[in-house]
Amino acid sequence: MTHRLTDGTAPHPAPRTTRPAPTTALVPTDRRLAHLTVLISGAGVAGPALALWLVRYGARVTLVEKAPALREGGFAVDFRGATHHTVLRRTGIWDEVHRRQTHMGRQTVVAADDRERVDLPAFFMSGDVEILRGDLSHILYERTRADVEYVFGDSVASLTEDSEGVDVTFERGAPRRFDLVVGADGLHSRTRRLVFGDESRYLRHLGHYVAGFGVPNHLGLHRTARIYTEPGRTMMISNYGGDPTRAGVALVFSSDRADHHRHGTARQKEILAERFAGMAWKHAATALDGLQSAEDLYFDAIAQIHVDRLSQGRVALLGDAGYGATMGGIGTGTALVSAYVLAGELAAAGGDHRAAFDAYEAEIGAYARNCQKSSDRVGPFLAPPTERRIRSRDRVYRVLGSRPMAGLFKKLTERPAGGLTLKNYG
Ligand SMILES: Cc1cc2nc3c(=O)[nH]c(=O)nc-3n(C[C@H](O)[C@H](O)[C@H](O)COP(=O)(O)OP(=O)(O)OC[C@H]3O[C@@H](n4cnc5c(N)ncnc54)[C@H](O)[C@@H]3O)c2cc1C
Repeated sequence: MTHRLTDGTAPHPAPRTTRPAPTTALVPTDRRLAHLTVLISGAGVAGPALALWLVRYGARVTLVEKAPALREGGFAVDFRGATHHTVLRRTGIWDEVHRRQTHMGRQTVVAADDRERVDLPAFFMSGDVEILRGDLSHILYERTRADVEYVFGDSVASLTEDSEGVDVTFERGAPRRFDLVVGADGLHSRTRRLVFGDESRYLRHLGHYVAGFGVPNHLGLHRTARIYTEPGRTMMISNYGGDPTRAGVALVFSSDRADHHRHGTARQKEILAERFAGMAWKHAATALDGLQSAEDLYFDAIAQIHVDRLSQGRVALLGDAGYGATMGGIGTGTALVSAYVLAGELAAAGGDHRAAFDAYEAEIGAYARNCQKSSDRVGPFLAPPTERRIRSRDRVYRVLGSRPMAGLFKKLTERPAGGLTLKNYG
């Protein structure tokens, strides 16, 4: 079976490879996968988390990442409920995640003149524990870099599978062969495109976009956020602790066009500038000034991925590549949970990928899709289309933040994330 990508990319410098050091940091707890070589595409959250588990079971792992270095951008991501707690503990990152948590405080919806209208309950945005996405990615990378071969600045170009393994060609590096390949390369996964077909078959655009970038902390915020909404567009400025001189700007806007995220950064900045021009909030113009010089712009559609199956032959999908949702879909918690399950099922099956991928599908499919559903209405909720809807959203915020409702609300938001009892894989 050959899956070759035909849209060639411009030549790049040679990929940067970090080979595992001879002494391993993650001493394998057992050797059930010692005979297995695995290529993972994508060093976001899901990829390094899977690598960590596979190495513990003795597998030899190569992780190829398109970016020239670890992508440490993004806003905060949070964990909520029992399943997330368990996976953080078993992965062994509970303490470090808590040490680096944001401790986010008040997040306040404001009027155009910055008058405070309603405070959001911290749990609503920040879960039980919240950490910057980049910090989490960094923790996982640091835990695995001594045992995993990281190849930055390269990407899979073709996958050819036979009964014994998968031949892989890369855009820059020399061809290689692996027993298994896992696509953890995000919402716009190339692995998925190569093996399952064009993205248009799997990506469901939900009518909104999200963008984020860093600016100077003009508002002097400290572990707080201010949120301003006009019909169809929202701006949030926050400081997550850490560097007191920096703030993050998050933008959400409605658009029926499903292709904005395909443009380069310069065009994306133009789209954002056009879409947010004339915003009445007194701090909006200064925040938008920072957009032009931002070097860390994150911009994507609020979208979901729906595939029929999470694997085909020796190739499996993990994280956003298989069941992603850009925002509100509990993607990071689901990525850690799924990485734990996929590696665990491979270990339980002694590396038999057929049995393991079936079990992974059975264990994670419904859970991940249920989590994904939380993002169904996130765009219209964050950026309602009319003034009337903005008012009614704020009334919902007020009710949910009130003491009698807070406990019930916490339970409701935890329900999808907590909907899986994790097996113990030994
Ligand atoms: C820069 C960035 C910022 C983000 N910010 C937020 C945020 O603020 N809030 C939030 O909820 N979610 C955010 N996300 C998404 C969030 O990380 C995921 O929903 C979740 O953590 C699941 O992670 P993932 O590893 O499946 O996907 P991702 O975290 O998206 O990681 C995918 C990785 O694959 C790499 N990749 C892509 N294509 C290729 C290729 N062809 N070959 C090799 N590698 C490739 C990407 O560079 C990336 O490192 C962000 C993602 C990125 C990449």
